[in-house]
Amino acid sequence: MTTYINTEKLSARLREAAINLNQKSLLLTNFYGTEQERDLTETPNCNGFGRIRHFKRFSNEGWPLNPLPIDPACKALGLPHIDALRAQVFQNAVCNWRCWYCFVPFNLLAASQTHADWLEPRLLIDLYLAQTDPPPVIDLTGGQPDLVPEWIPWMMKELRSHGIDKKVYLWSDDNLSTDYFWRYLSDTDRELVSSYTHYGRVCCFKGFNAESFTFNTKAEPQLFERQFDLMRKLLPSEQKQRLGGGDILSQETDEETTCPRKELMKKAKSYAEVTRRFYRPELYSCPECQRHLRRTSTLSQRKVVTLKGVIKVTHAGYGCPDPQCRARGRTYRSAAADALALPSFTFGLDVVVLAGQLHFGKHQTLDEAHQHISERLAPVGVSISRREVLYLFEAFSTLLRASSDASQDQEWREQVKKNKGIIVSIDGIKPDEGNETVYVVRDGLTGRLLAAENVTDNSVERLKQLLMPVVALNIPVLGTISDAQETEVMALSQLWPHVPHQTCQFHALREASRPGFKEDGQMKAQMRKKLQPKIRSVRKQIHKHVEQVSEAEAEQLAILDEYALGVQTALNLEGKLPFDYAGVAAAEALDEVATSLERLEKKGEMSVSSPRGN
Ligand code: SF4
Ligand SMILES: [Zn+2]
Repeated sequence: MTTYINTEKLSARLREAAINLNQKSLLLTNFYGTEQERDLTETPNCNGFGRIRHFKRFSNEGWPLNPLPIDPACKALGLPHIDALRAQVFQNAVCNWRCWYCFVPFNLLAASQTHADWLEPRLLIDLYLAQTDPPPVIDLTGGQPDLVPEWIPWMMKELRSHGIDKKVYLWSDDNLSTDYFWRYLSDTDRELVSSYTHYGRVCCFKGFNAESFTFNTKAEPQLFERQFDLMRKLLPSEQKQRLGGGDILSQETDEETTCPRKELMKKAKSYAEVTRRFYRPELYSCPECQRHLRRTSTLSQRKVVTLKGVIKVTHAGYGCPDPQCRARGRTYRSAAADALALPSFTFGLDVVVLAGQLHFGKHQTLDEAHQHISERLAPVGVSISRREVLYLFEAFSTLLRASSDASQDQEWREQVKKNKGIIVSIDGIKPDEGNETVYVVRDGLTGRLLAAENVTDNSVERLKQLLMPVVALNIPVLGTISDAQETEVMALSQLWPHVPHQTCQFHALREASRPGFKEDGQMKAQMRKKLQPKIRSVRKQIHKHVEQVSEAEAEQLAILDEYALGVQTALNLEGKLPFDYAGVAAAEALDEVATSLERLEKKGEMSVSSPRGN
């Protein structure tokens, strides 16, 4: 039996956990150390509670233009027609639905305080104004901001009291799930929201019928219709009649995930269990100037079905940050991410290879192979159609033809020219039956397949032979990447002796680092347990006193509050294997705070910096 989210019950619980009406504060996400932080194109700001979002009118080819919130914001602010707009985002830490395509990790939607803290709108505006170049739009997003509808009028009042209500455009989103806007806001607050000239709201319809709605959100199907009722209630009367039946499609616009929703809905499958994985290039420093590579783009976000499970892959591109470097403009990819699946293929390469082996190696018919593959995928909760197996056969043949295609591919050669060469990555996939290995060779900069072969002999000579089509391309090789298999490393180093080689050490290091990482996590938990209650109570006292003291004292209290927030942020840091130890980072950050406080005490200096340097 399908279990749906009980929206009414969950919303009530999350609301209670996300708003403090007495203190007028809200539970907001702090992005530091979160999985979402890695998706951001700019580092978090406002002490970790903010992020910058780039709204763009144009997205991928074939997609409708997205004028929101660019046009209403420009109109309100008297700006000229523009196609891109920066916005300051704050995100609340709760959402009552769980959309499969959501770009916010679900642990940031569950009112968990690991990556969230209580903030008042006043402090949010202070943090926003403290930036050197605050964007013209403040975007209150989620989570689901409307679980705590008070957030919007509170912000409006705060913007007014700072005298910037006509200089900033306030924007929020709403998943049309509850009637809290009417249930919890006073008439006066509702009036404020509807008459505030510099405010706009985007409402997102989650599906084109009850079935797709439920599939997308995991909420009860009857709430599909309710979205329209809520939207009707929100709209000014003259627009109500324009809202027809079910022909409305939402278009959420996140810089990382502008997604062809309707298409996805048609194709999407629901998988029992999905593991999220983030991939970055195996290279950490620029091969030309040795500077540390930085994230520059999201190359793809997709689901890949492998024989071991379904993976939600985020593949990030990195580049050299030095504008003078010869490698500027080059994007480095993760060879491991490319090795998972062929471009635009949902089934992983291991499934393709299995299909190829059954059909071409064991001469199984389509029906036999279909049955075999279905059985192999059943434990991971995935089904496959006969037609898809046929595609897998084709994909296997395409794979083996890859090398001849590369030499003819003019477009790719142009790209290679720009990159000044290729990075050769080799990966062996061994189907678990038989003694064959399918070797796949790719360019680590463009992800293009260069060669692929099914071999039974893994000797150095055989691998060199397999790599010959790449040598024949006669293109400069900037580097080579392989897993730790000795024959692969030897073949690469014999063919390209003067080229730097990178072993894909990530997995080995990750395992080696695990025990230390565990200890570190325990140490951080202890630190948090000891310090968190104290720091919370200090901040509470500061906030209580700040109203009753002189301006100069209030300024000092604000500095102290910054320090306290710095400590809180440090305690909320989260680590990542193999080397990002949160406990160590938190201890270092706390040391920094202590040193800065000592300096302040000794010299009366007023230098305040948060542990992450914002
Ligand atoms: S309603 Fe929005 S925030 Fe909530 S899960 Fe869906 S996409 Fe994410
Ligand atoms: Zn460089």
